[in-house]
Amino acid sequence: MLNNIACGLAPEYTSCETEGAGGSNPRSGADEEALRYFEILDDAQTELYPGCKDFSKLSFIVELLHLKALNQWSDTSFDMLLQLLHRVLPSGAKLAKSYYEARKLTENLGFTYEILDACPNNCMLFRNENAHLDMCIVCQTSRWKEGGVGYNRQNSSTSVIDRGKRVAAKQARYFLLKPRLKRLFMSSNISKLMR
Ligand SMILES: [Zn+2]
Repeated sequence: MLNNIACGLAPEYTSCETEGAGGSNPRSGADEEALRYFEILDDAQTELYPGCKDFSKLSFIVELLHLKALNQWSDTSFDMLLQLLHRVLPSGAKLAKSYYEARKLTENLGFTYEILDACPNNCMLFRNENAHLDMCIVCQTSRWKEGGVGYNRQNSSTSVIDRGKRVAAKQARYFLLKPRLKRLFMSSNISKLMR
């Protein structure tokens, strides 16, 4: 999966080998971000358990985290599920033991996100030049919950207007994977490694 992402972004990147070939280690001299990236490739190529062909250590935890996010499972329920899976899987399984550990594994993927206000009908996100708008530019629906008061999100660096007590009717997670991968490929060290 990750190989596909990488190969998709960098057409010249045709080999995703993670081990040094022919005595010279391509990891030497790589910067920290590169090392983290190689860790991801390792995880992506590690079988979930010996003989498992359908999931890697990474792909399985990414799918689980995806389900967690879709269904709004609590961190505790996720920990409980992992504990159960550990009892089911063959010994030697490479499965995170906790939500915290799972997040650590996937942090290197660069799945950072911003929480942004969104049109309740999913037409647009209120970001960049639209960050200050009160209505959706497509369907004219209000950005705000009617009569909504109280808590609103913190760290709203994109919010330049006085939002008072207004509460967004809908918010969405905006994932920032691509910029990070792009940076990775722009780094001269990495570019050399990718050839
Ligand atoms: Zn709309």
